[in-house]
Amino acid sequence: MNNSRKILLNESEKPTHWYNIAADMPNKPQPPLNPKTKQPAGPDDLAPIFPMGLIEQEASAEKYIEIPDQVQEIYNIWRPSPLYRARGLEKALDAPVKIYYKYEGGSPSGSHKPNTAVPQAYYNKQESVKKITTETGAGQWGTALSFACAQFGIECEVYMVRISYDQKPYRKIMMNMFGADVYPSPSDRTQAGRDILAADPDSSGSLGIAISEAIEKAVQDESNKYALGSVLNHVLLHQTIIGQEALKQLEMAGDYPDLIIAPMGGGSNFAGISFPFIGENLTQGKKTRCIAVEPASCPKLTQGEFLYDHGDTAGYTPLLPMYTLGHNFRPAAIHAGGLRYHGASVLCSQLLKDGLMEAVALQQLECFQAGITFARLEGIIPAPEATHAVAQVLREARQAKKEGKEKTILFNMCGHGFVDMQAYEDYFSGKLSDHSFSENELKDGLTEIRALQP
Ligand SMILES: *Cc1c(COP(=O)(O)O)cnc(C)c1O
Repeated sequence: MNNSRKILLNESEKPTHWYNIAADMPNKPQPPLNPKTKQPAGPDDLAPIFPMGLIEQEASAEKYIEIPDQVQEIYNIWRPSPLYRARGLEKALDAPVKIYYKYEGGSPSGSHKPNTAVPQAYYNKQESVKKITTETGAGQWGTALSFACAQFGIECEVYMVRISYDQKPYRKIMMNMFGADVYPSPSDRTQAGRDILAADPDSSGSLGIAISEAIEKAVQDESNKYALGSVLNHVLLHQTIIGQEALKQLEMAGDYPDLIIAPMGGGSNFAGISFPFIGENLTQGKKTRCIAVEPASCPKLTQGEFLYDHGDTAGYTPLLPMYTLGHNFRPAAIHAGGLRYHGASVLCSQLLKDGLMEAVALQQLECFQAGITFARLEGIIPAPEATHAVAQVLREARQAKKEGKEKTILFNMCGHGFVDMQAYEDYFSGKLSDHSFSENELKDGLTEIRALQP
């Protein structure tokens, strides 16, 4: 009887390239715009904040991009990541489904984020960058970049959303451990931060504000650059290592997914697991459905609008064509901090617009319950973000049972929840509630964005 639960790749089977979906998309993503001129933003617009190696990847039309040796060597710490067959979950569900998941929680920061933090630090090092500034919400991205900078001897300065800085002290300590300086945002170290504090001294911060602070710091010194943990094309590109591995692992298992599910913050882990398969839909006639799961309190894909918008609150970034709730949207303080971003990546937004991927929004209580079920049956405690994928898997399994239809499901267990125990404690003690998103929240956020359109 075949009862294996873990499918591993050998050294010789490791993917050597990232997959660039832009090469295969029927409608290419629209270009980012310079916010002043409303003309396409070129390399010169991005050069003050990113190294050229990454700017080239941002606009690349090449289908496969080779992973540098030095990056592979660091990936070897936790990659290839295991593909698990969720036999415990399958038995409990008693539905006609096979469930597989990639587990990214074995990385140094406990999530998929180091898959891009390492190459980003590498390309900065190639251009002799001394310090990288960044933002972090719940702390996952800040931890990943701190680790990556430590590997290359680059200084790291992190602006951490105030509410998380106060509520999640362990993430800050992890960043300090990897050598980073961490400041609560809004801070008095930047004009963007001071402006927010002047209007609201008790501001609990947001990702958009923290991004503004980090960019402002980076452009003040030529030897400094900025790094973003999601949303941009090069970030999604690096994450495709997940799906590239999964393609080979599923082949070893003799299976192919009908359905791929991943949580959606800015879109990088969703892209990471699904883009290589969407590529096969586009070029080989496969028909895998790919579903991004967002929180009901921050539903950019299901309730936002496809518009040009800034990636940050102060409006320092180029305008990006994306599904957005508006860059001043303040999501409710749900526990899946990594999903509280106002917009979706340009690549995901274009794919959704063209009907090449799908999206659903779920409430947090259903997700926490699913996460606990998963922990008991599979032995992995998911990050609150990752529970969104599990909840949708449970829905799909029930649906399959009702319809009597067989399905093979692949999902991304994009991080562990070891540093999120307070969230689970709040759930157990009944302190969490669902958030009903109001039409008014949306209208206010989008009105000002309409004025930015070219
Ligand atoms: C950052 C993060 C996310 C959301 O970001 P994406 O860019 O959509 O991947 C989801 N899960 C975890 C564990 C994260 O750290």
